Amino acid sequence: MTTDEIIRTFLDHYHRHGHQDAPESSLVPPSGDPVLFTTSGMHPLTPYLLGRPHPGGRRLANVQRCLRTTDLDEVGDSTHLTVFQMLGSWSLGDYDIATSLRWGYDLLTGGFGIPMGRLHATVFGGGSGEGPDDTARDTWTGLGVPVEALGEDNWWSNGPTGPCGPDSEIFVWTGDGPPTGTPTTDARWVEVWNHVQMRYHRHPDGRLTPLPVSSIDTGMGLERLEMVLRGDRSVFTGDGLRRWVDEVGNWDLHGTDLRVVSDHLRSAVVVLGDGVRPGNTGRGYVLRRLLRRALTVLWRDDPARSLDELPPELYAETLRRFRQTSGPGTLPGGQPVDVGSLRATLLDEERRFRGLLRRGRPLVDRVRARGPLSERDYHWLHDTHGLPRDLVDGLLADAS
Ligand code: ATP
Ligand code: MG
Ligand code: MG
Ligand code: MG
Repeated sequence: MTTDEIIRTFLDHYHRHGHQDAPESSLVPPSGDPVLFTTSGMHPLTPYLLGRPHPGGRRLANVQRCLRTTDLDEVGDSTHLTVFQMLGSWSLGDYDIATSLRWGYDLLTGGFGIPMGRLHATVFGGGSGEGPDDTARDTWTGLGVPVEALGEDNWWSNGPTGPCGPDSEIFVWTGDGPPTGTPTTDARWVEVWNHVQMRYHRHPDGRLTPLPVSSIDTGMGLERLEMVLRGDRSVFTGDGLRRWVDEVGNWDLHGTDLRVVSDHLRSAVVVLGDGVRPGNTGRGYVLRRLLRRALTVLWRDDPARSLDELPPELYAETLRRFRQTSGPGTLPGGQPVDVGSLRATLLDEERRFRGLLRRGRPLVDRVRARGPLSERDYHWLHDTHGLPRDLVDGLLADAS
């Protein structure tokens, strides 16, 4: 199945069960949101999970682009991306967790044809005053899916505050032989889907109060689902990543370097597609960091390499895949993203970083020749020469 077919199959399944399409949001949350980027499908639906009626009704589904800065350390493994797409379904005070899990099971085994013997589930085993999730556990047992009860890993929240509750994670076996062990003992069990019971509201002072109505929120990583359906071991061989890996691979990068650079450049394009520009604070800084991390790896062996060598068609294809060139989810105001100006922004940022390194390297060498850098050295390099601390640290690491 192509990713388009996967999305179609997912949405059709939920339409048949009476769900309406929820609009896809930008990676940039509305102003006032304490979180920098949209991190999950439920994130834009927060007000509705807290009780406000949704214009689309009580059953919703969609696909939502997400960015998790909290996952940056994991990016480079086989299953974590910085920007990814999440298939989501919601019951806003409507059906319960048992129904959600059963419909999920039907879709995975029926719609997507995953043998039931390759599934494993985890549920919340209790803690912090909340009892074990017997309903979810019994539902899985009734379906014949092995289930493991765990602690904090099965409590979902989108951040320090907001709706939260116990969840049930669904794993698919990706090993060659028959499944062995459990998701906690064998990494070949890959998590694809999470079903959360949104039952509580965490307040800024840490208090947990019950929500007026309890809802179900599910999120399934599109790239991960595609990976398990193809029988692949990594998300980097899928539709949305392969071309990036091919192009970046032309620079003779391999392994983690290849994956990190492919992920970061692809993610940067999607972030730019939502109107973020490189900067020194907030979202702009996250974007700048992604690009600088990629360029730092890229230039390690050959400083002459340039993003100019990537075909513009790759940007266009990526934006299309994330539906940033048409339909909902274009720039605020609805204008389509201009690939030419996006590319110019990338090259501009590359030039700027190259210039900073060129000026910075001899200065940092001079300062470090006198011994370890002091706070005053950092301030001098920053205030007088415009060299940020992380860049100086990068140059120090290169030199050592
Ligand atoms: P993991 O435990 O693998 O880090 P998670 O439990 O943090 O995943 P959830 O918050 O439950 O992830 O998100 C729902 C789904 O989104 C996951 O089941 C997974 O399929 C997908 N997903 C989560 N993080 C990523 C990521 N960094 N890259 C790609 N897909 C992801
Ligand atoms: Mg995670
Ligand atoms: Mg998990
Ligand atoms: Mg999860």
